[in-house]
Amino acid sequence: MDNSYQRDLIYANIRDALKVPGCPICHIGASAATRYLRFLLHENVNSVTTRIKIHKAWGFCNEHAWELKQMEEDFYKDPLGYPIILEGLINSAIRVSNELKEQLLKDTSSPNEGGLFRKKKDPLKQSKEIASKLKPSGPCPACKSREDTSNTHSLFLMKYISKEEFREIFSKSEGLCLKHFTSCIENAENPEDIISLIDSQLAIWGNLSGELAEHIRKMDYRFSKEPKGPEQDAWIKAIKVISGTQKDIKPKRLKKQKEDVPKN
Ligand SMILES: [Zn+2]
Ligand SMILES: [Zn+2]
Repeated sequence: MDNSYQRDLIYANIRDALKVPGCPICHIGASAATRYLRFLLHENVNSVTTRIKIHKAWGFCNEHAWELKQMEEDFYKDPLGYPIILEGLINSAIRVSNELKEQLLKDTSSPNEGGLFRKKKDPLKQSKEIASKLKPSGPCPACKSREDTSNTHSLFLMKYISKEEFREIFSKSEGLCLKHFTSCIENAENPEDIISLIDSQLAIWGNLSGELAEHIRKMDYRFSKEPKGPEQDAWIKAIKVISGTQKDIKPKRLKKQKEDVPKN
């Protein structure tokens, strides 16, 4: 991808994400994971490389497994792509379990195998070794896509943060979550950019802290009759900061796009 085109695209992504409530990098990362899953269903189910990655990860993390299920149901009347992936995974689980059982039966049926003087292998240790094949040896591919995209956008956000125009947009947003605030700092190329980011973020967190205090004050029966203001949603904003923005799956939007996607 041409560098300036990539820069413009990333700038537009961040600017648009700053206009919706929550951490912009959380939004961009979640969209990347959703795009990955959508592409997987429409184009990529039979790609050997993709299947290897999925098998290494034993499918998907809980969040993306259920997002993919929802997506499959939203797009197709008769789900096929995900069932094909799942068949392969279930068969692998059966293979490993059979291997484990055979090993244990062999150990218990022939206690002296290996010779009188050879030290016998610990069957429990061997079981754990075989059972460890059921654990992921790679990341959830959708999480990986989310992390890679988040990282690129954190890096670019730091290139813009000292620019007046960008900081203006940033100051009107809910700012970054703690995780992405940290990843932006890690991606900084000079200390001045980190100071710009901290200043912008502190202004947002300062407001939030005031709103939280106001919310808590109004919980007191003496002030509970006072009209409610923006402070009533402050604790939701604080969850987004501390734990990240909740993934927003939009089945209706997916359904709308259904018409544009050719069925296999
Ligand atoms: Zn975030
Ligand atoms: Zn995942």
